[in-house]
Amino acid sequence: MADKLTADYMVIGAGAMGMAFTDVLLSESNANIIMVDKYHQPGGHWNIAYPYVRLHQPSAFYGVNSKTLGSDVIDSSGWNEGLYELATNSEVCAYFDQVMQQQFLPSGRVRYFPMSEYLGEGRFKSRISGEEHTVDAGKIVDATYMHVTVPAMREPPYAVDPGVHCEAPNALPEVSAEYNDFVVVGAGKTGMDACLFLLKNGLPAERIRWVMPRDSWLLDRANIQPGKLFASSIGRGFARQNEAMAAATSIDDLFARVEAAGQLLRFDTNIKPTMYRCATVTQSELQALRSIPNIVRKGRVSHISAQTITLKQGTEPTSLNTMHVDCTADGLERRPVEPVFAGSHITLQSVRTCQQVFSAAFIGHIEATHTDETLKNELCTPVPHPDSDIDFLRTSLANARNAMRWAQDAQLQQWLYQARLDGFSSGDAPPDLSDPDVLAQMAPRAELAAKANANLEQLLDSV
Ligand SMILES: Cc1cc2nc3c(=O)[nH]c(=O)nc-3n(C[C@H](O)[C@H](O)[C@H](O)COP(=O)(O)OP(=O)(O)OC[C@H]3O[C@@H](n4cnc5c(N)ncnc54)[C@H](O)[C@@H]3O)c2cc1C
Repeated sequence: MADKLTADYMVIGAGAMGMAFTDVLLSESNANIIMVDKYHQPGGHWNIAYPYVRLHQPSAFYGVNSKTLGSDVIDSSGWNEGLYELATNSEVCAYFDQVMQQQFLPSGRVRYFPMSEYLGEGRFKSRISGEEHTVDAGKIVDATYMHVTVPAMREPPYAVDPGVHCEAPNALPEVSAEYNDFVVVGAGKTGMDACLFLLKNGLPAERIRWVMPRDSWLLDRANIQPGKLFASSIGRGFARQNEAMAAATSIDDLFARVEAAGQLLRFDTNIKPTMYRCATVTQSELQALRSIPNIVRKGRVSHISAQTITLKQGTEPTSLNTMHVDCTADGLERRPVEPVFAGSHITLQSVRTCQQVFSAAFIGHIEATHTDETLKNELCTPVPHPDSDIDFLRTSLANARNAMRWAQDAQLQQWLYQARLDGFSSGDAPPDLSDPDVLAQMAPRAELAAKANANLEQLLDSV
């Protein structure tokens, strides 16, 4: 017999999004919540990711709204020197565990069921005891919808013959000096992390071959820094980006201008990228990556045998003394847009581009403070993950539209200005939009943003 439980909310998934949503609901409502997750501790994919992964953005605006992650230190060495610290995956997992053990559970309003698989229709089953529960929940919150995959969760999506060494990037800290060379398959952020791990640990760049099916536009981490220290340089950067977007006469011209404004980077300035997935690097990381001389641009791998790597547009020699590092998992899968609020169902999605935890906290705030479903969905319009170069334009526009909508709501502005997860919040009071002097001061920026958006719309119409 299934045991029957009741709760105001049942949150499926205690990854970063489920945790960030629940945290705001605890702070801003009296709701009681059941959280169910198939892993043994909160933190989702961070429990499975390669051990040397770090946040790609500063710790300062990751995690849950109510608790600081890290110690707001600026790194004084390494490839992130001069920028805010980046938590490691063990730090992220420990942080989420503390949030659960020290905040959620002591509140008496959260019941947490780890090692439990959600079966649908409010039912879940323990992966250890097999015991089944049914939850009579006011609302069901799907915090699994973003489908984050890291390579260690599945087999490589290409055939690998017996005897060939092909591993997830998790295996790299265990390898010995027995390999002649390394082939890193995939040029997203995980591929970059694997290459940087090898270089950092003294492997000569010539012994790496990097399979790069698509070149990517990259974000400069120096432009993604929180707080007052970086506020004016970031503000100037955004203004330069809007000027570039407003003045661009074609899509190629837009990328040239945004790159010249220092808002986008690329691995090889002679190659036009066709990918944009919010991957973030520092200038020093990029310089290190550019030292890798052997870049394989022959499309995706389909088969690795003892002597040959078969790719879509050709082959590459390989050997049984080569370590192939599979970095092809889709960490930021592009998912179909669902309404965030649909009756008794909430589907957590990004409402600011590539800012999932901010988005989950924002949705939690809207759920706790609004009742009109149409308005709630208007405020929480999803911004799907980007994939192609053109998606840089699409997500920039969708982001800007959401920001403009939020700016019309004084209470929401107040919340955003105080929200730790809003990387660009200052913690100060928001500008008083009823003050004509304030409005006059903001007018040139608003006009520029409007021109940039109008031009983006026009350029996208031509695609
Ligand atoms: C290597 C890497 C680095 C990243 N760095 C950053 C960064 O610096 N900043 C940033 O904002 N984002 C970053 N991201 C994006 C990242 O995806 C999000 O920040 C966030 O961690 C996503 O969390 P999530 O809760 O959506 O997903 P997940 O972490 O996948 O959590 C989903 C949870 O749902 C559970 N679940 C799924 N199905 C079921 C089921 N049927 N029953 C029970 N439980 C279930 C899973 O066990 C899991 O715990 C990174 C992603 C990767 C892959």
